[in-house]
Amino acid sequence: MNSVHIDLGERSYFIKVASCGLRASVDDPLLPAGTAALIVSNETIAPLYGELLLSALAKHYPQVHTVILPDGEQHKTWQTLNLIFDALLTHGCDRKVVLYALGGGVVGDMTGFAAACYMRGVDFVQVPTTLLAQVDSSVGGKTGINHPLGKNMVGAFHQPRLVICDLSTLDTLPARELAAGLAEVIKYGPIADMALFDWLEANMDALLAREPQALAHAVRRSCEIKAAVVGADEREAGLRAILNFGHTFGHAIEAGMGYGVWLHGEGVAAGMVMAAELSRRLGLVDEGFVQRLRTLLMRAGLPTRGPVLDAQDNAGRYLELMRVDKKAEAGEIRFVLIDGPGRAVLRAAPDALVREVIDACCA
Ligand code: NAD
Ligand code: ZN
Repeated sequence: MNSVHIDLGERSYFIKVASCGLRASVDDPLLPAGTAALIVSNETIAPLYGELLLSALAKHYPQVHTVILPDGEQHKTWQTLNLIFDALLTHGCDRKVVLYALGGGVVGDMTGFAAACYMRGVDFVQVPTTLLAQVDSSVGGKTGINHPLGKNMVGAFHQPRLVICDLSTLDTLPARELAAGLAEVIKYGPIADMALFDWLEANMDALLAREPQALAHAVRRSCEIKAAVVGADEREAGLRAILNFGHTFGHAIEAGMGYGVWLHGEGVAAGMVMAAELSRRLGLVDEGFVQRLRTLLMRAGLPTRGPVLDAQDNAGRYLELMRVDKKAEAGEIRFVLIDGPGRAVLRAAPDALVREVIDACCA
């Protein structure tokens, strides 16, 4: 068992990394006190882990309720969010209720947003069950839902009181989802810690075999890096943006293909290669570095080339999508580039160069 502390003053909390089985992992003195707990999960995860969580929480709360949401990014909407409020009000939950997000990033983002809004803010705990949620989305307090006109466009910053990553839940995760989570783990190397990157090169086979010790190291180190970045810049005034390495191109891929066709982590994987290639063409890293990144992503089973989004003007379509991304400012695209392995910078780049990179990096 291991914990990572995220230092945010009075909103500080622990990220617990354990592999002793969900019931034992959750049975923890750090659980916030409350008059009731509401487990928020979805129709895929609840049958697998709902009872385990419920039996652990029944020892800590006078009442434990469950609400089961439909599964999928397409349900990360107002309508689904309302199911959580319906459950809270139907059960007469007061402002001392504690919400438990049991699931991947979709459940986590919606539960966090519901906790931010219900009675102007109640406590919540993240129990992430995907690798992506354990290493990224459950940590840092970004919560929200999608709007038909844009992903994650409606939301709030609301930090959880505790994050419980139980690695044994990853046993049932589909291989493609595991690989998508590995993209976010790999991301932390080039932006912050090349020792992690070296370790991933040596341990990729163990991770793909889901060896608990390897998973524990990857999750803990990823959470440490994310905690340090978020601790220094909770609301993304500057530094936090480096966590979006590969995401500018990646979001264009996700949106351009239609959400759900490429998983988020798959878009990020191809996007990281493009951002690394852009860094190389700007003279910041050498070809050897870009090739190492490609090789590691390939070993993880991730794509290293972007899809063609428009047969006539592919680069133009990418640029168009990147200009409407939430991270662009006044239409200027800010790329997270690698300024030497292990160090990220935020920079604009000439359109002509970005076009060359897209042409070179798409299938
Ligand atoms: P997800 O929540 O859709 O989960 C992926 C799939 O795996 C789902 O079908 C889910 O039901 C299933 N699943 C989850 N755990 C399982 C398990 N243990 N066994 C079997 N199946 C399981 O996707 P995700 O990749 O976890 O999260 C993506 C979401 O996270 C996106 O909506 C993205 O916007 C968000 N996100 C948020 C942040 C943040 O900082 N808040 C960061 C990154 C991503
Ligand atoms: Zn991401």
